[in-house]
Amino acid sequence: MATTEPSKIGLGIRRGLAQRCPQCGKGRLFRSFLKVAESCEACGADNTRYPSDDAPPYLTVIIVGHVILPLAILSYEAWLPHMWLNLAIWTSIAILMTLATLPLMKGAVVGFAWATGVTRETARQ
Ligand SMILES: [Zn+2]
Repeated sequence: MATTEPSKIGLGIRRGLAQRCPQCGKGRLFRSFLKVAESCEACGADNTRYPSDDAPPYLTVIIVGHVILPLAILSYEAWLPHMWLNLAIWTSIAILMTLATLPLMKGAVVGFAWATGVTRETARQ
C-alpha cells in the first residue's frame, strides 16, 4: 500500500478549500457552483477524474449540524422566542451556511483525492 506524505494531503485540502486546482493552486477548481471544471485554466489538469461522491454533503451536514443545533437550542433557551420564529431564523441560517460550506467541502475532498491519488478509475476497483 502506497503512503502519501501528510504535507501533500494538507496542500491538496488547502487548495481545495480555496477552490483552486489541487495540481497548481492557481486555476479555479469549479466552473459553476459545484461543477468541477473539465480542465484547469492554468495548468490544464483534468480535475474531474477525482471523485467526491457523497463525502462533501456528508461533511457539510456534520459541520452545519454541529454549529446550528447548539446555537438554535441556546438561543431558544436564552431568549425564548416564539418557536416558529426560532425555527425560521435558524433554518434560514442553516440553508445559507450549507450553501457556503458545500463548495468548500467538495474542494477539500477533490484536493484530498488528488493528494492520495484516488481517481474515479481506482475508486471503482
Ligand atoms: Zn491547475
